[in-house]
Amino acid sequence: MIPAAFDYIAPQSLDEAVRALAAHGEDAKLLAGGHSLLPLLKLRLANPKLLIDLSRIPGLSGISQQDDKIAIGALATHYQIESSKLLETKCPLLPQTARSIGDVQVRNRGTIGGSLTHADPSADWPAAILALGGELKLSGTKGERRIAAEEFFLGAMTTAIEPTEILTEIRVPALVRRCGSAYLKMAQQASGFAIVGVAVWLRVDTKGRCEDVGVGVTGLSEKPFRAQVVEQRLRGHKLTPKLIEEGASQVAEGSDPMEDLHASAKFRAHLARVYTGRAIQEAAKRASGRAR
Ligand SMILES: Cc1cc2nc3c(=O)[nH]c(=O)nc-3n(C[C@H](O)[C@H](O)[C@H](O)COP(=O)(O)OP(=O)(O)OC[C@H]3O[C@@H](n4cnc5c(N)ncnc54)[C@H](O)[C@@H]3O)c2cc1C
Repeated sequence: MIPAAFDYIAPQSLDEAVRALAAHGEDAKLLAGGHSLLPLLKLRLANPKLLIDLSRIPGLSGISQQDDKIAIGALATHYQIESSKLLETKCPLLPQTARSIGDVQVRNRGTIGGSLTHADPSADWPAAILALGGELKLSGTKGERRIAAEEFFLGAMTTAIEPTEILTEIRVPALVRRCGSAYLKMAQQASGFAIVGVAVWLRVDTKGRCEDVGVGVTGLSEKPFRAQVVEQRLRGHKLTPKLIEEGASQVAEGSDPMEDLHASAKFRAHLARVYTGRAIQEAAKRASGRAR
């Protein structure tokens, strides 16, 4: 349980970190909260020669509103998000999700950027960021680029980030009137990771019809995904129990449910249906409470 020897640097600026990453390529690993990376080092599943600690770089952990978006620094911890008053009023799906992650220690150290780039198929953040139609900002030697969350996740532990890029920011829409959201999961009891987790954000119109909706699913298959088939079923309609049940029953369509010691593929698909239905109901209830 002792990692192989490695060098360590703590750059003071993003430029310095980008240059160090480019110079060392595959031999280097970025360090954020360390809660996913350090276990890999201890198990010797990763053996980087250099760790580049991002924690001393100023400006990478803020949470602020910029016009109709909220920008969250990649180094923001789960706890920062859980306790952000701005997010609680403008994008409550994120604190709702953060609260469900691991335990107090994990939420104090783990970062949203580390979780998204690590891309564990049972991680909670991908569901919420997909449901919200979030966008990720990546910085590398060629400059900055933005990528939609839907294009970011490619599979288990695999994303569209280049080995020489750093995730610096996540942007989500600021949502207020007639919006509601919920994140529900069946948690693996030892770690809290999602056996299946479903994030729902929706907005209703003045007549109570579903004007817009996002449904993000994690834990069901190797790649977290946006359940567009469910969204299409709900958009434009009143969210009756029958419609919600019909929509939820389609959530696993086209997915390839995982099978492991925690749950069979069939049970995972069942959980996805149940949690999708419940999350839509909960989000719809909250949306009607924010009608003014
Ligand atoms: C006991 C335990 C329980 C947990 N329970 C849950 C849970 O219930 N739900 C859940 O979702 N997660 C859970 N986690 C995972 C936890 O949320 C991690 O903190 C998270 O997955 C990784 O974030 P980190 O900041 O610790 O990243 P690190 O471990 O520092 O890094 C993870 C990976 O991402 C890369 N990386 C980090 N930051 C960046 C960046 N800005 N740009 C590019 N690459 C980067 C690193 O190089 C590394 O490959 C748990 C972890 C533990 C140890």
